[in-house]
Amino acid sequence: MNVLVINCGSSSLKYQLINMENEDVLAKGLAERIGLDGVIKHQAEGKEEVKLDDKLNNHKDAIKVVLDLLVDEKVGAIKSLDEIDVVGHRVVHGGEKFAGSVIINDEVILAMEDCIDLAPLHNPPNITGIKACQELMPNVTMTGVFDTAFHQTMSKKAYIYPLPYELYEELGVRKYGFHGTSHKYVANRVAELIGEDIEDLKIVTCHLGNGASATAIRGGKSVDTSMGLTPLEGLAMGTRSGSIDPAIITFLMNKKNMTIDEVDELLNKKSGVLGISGVSNDFRDIEKAAEEGNERAQLALDKFYYIVKKYIASYTAAMGGIDVLVFTAGLGENSIEARRAICEDLEYLGIEIDDENNNVRGKEQLISKEGKKVKVYVIPTNEELMIAREAIEILGNK
Ligand code: AMP
Repeated sequence: MNVLVINCGSSSLKYQLINMENEDVLAKGLAERIGLDGVIKHQAEGKEEVKLDDKLNNHKDAIKVVLDLLVDEKVGAIKSLDEIDVVGHRVVHGGEKFAGSVIINDEVILAMEDCIDLAPLHNPPNITGIKACQELMPNVTMTGVFDTAFHQTMSKKAYIYPLPYELYEELGVRKYGFHGTSHKYVANRVAELIGEDIEDLKIVTCHLGNGASATAIRGGKSVDTSMGLTPLEGLAMGTRSGSIDPAIITFLMNKKNMTIDEVDELLNKKSGVLGISGVSNDFRDIEKAAEEGNERAQLALDKFYYIVKKYIASYTAAMGGIDVLVFTAGLGENSIEARRAICEDLEYLGIEIDDENNNVRGKEQLISKEGKKVKVYVIPTNEELMIAREAIEILGNK
């Protein structure tokens, strides 16, 4: 069984073809600058990497090129498109309509379109990608895997905002949470590595990349997560503010005559560690600047670590304990210093890092001290594999 995993951004398309007999990646690639000049990088297992500059007018053009590459005699991975059994599409927002992955039909697309207001930047390209695949592969089953679905197990007290209740009823204003595929993958993987039933574990997962979120997972289910109605809430991020005093928004509009769009851009694109440091949104640049004595860069890092630390403790309170802490995504997998600083002073919870074990980048490893109550792990995330597994599972239940 082969699954084609498709992740469409506004001007990009990431893909992987995975053989589910052994979970081998047969081919993967990235198309960028869709709608502009178009660039595609493609690599099949054991074959040379290909780079193409091809005019890509839209996502359908991009998917067409990708499908041609996949069956190409020289650089492809399969002989014909019949070898693709199912396509797994990443969809960012499923609102309250989707608590799990689904087989896509017309009704599902309408429901995804209803969620566009909640994710205006993300859902439209996701839907465009689905429609293009339907046209180009009319006989292949399409499935949708939602970033929000894993968090649909949150209790009402976790997801409701202290706002007039009518806003929830009328507009769906509530916490949804994101990065669900990643949190689910690393939580299941860590339970497997420890050799315990996930049902018996209280896990905090920290997905720390350019976008960052933390999730409390009890018995394999999300009980709380840091992102909210949108992916702006929660931890500070590369360019996003995360949670701030909401009164800052009206204060800025009054004092600086800012429009709603300007405030929106400030909070999403100019804040976070970029905003504090003034250096970059990339943690590598900020770590380097801090090492060279840049005080604002150090402050940005200190603030970020401090926020993550507080979320770990508050999620421990939410679950009445913690057995496992997981770090994943770009920074979580690669920054030795970030993990050290975040876990510092959390000994009272039973969290203590072993410096030697923590000296690791980008691979699965237990990094806590032996004998400590809480096992701390680095688990590289694999959202594509999780999407492929979900796609196969629902195909089986069809
Ligand atoms: P992601 O969104 O998961 O791809 O993560 C991307 C972010 O991870 C980058 O913007 C960097 O800030 C961070 N990152 C990646 N590698 C490292 C590293 N070796 N050290 C520190 N931060 C890193």
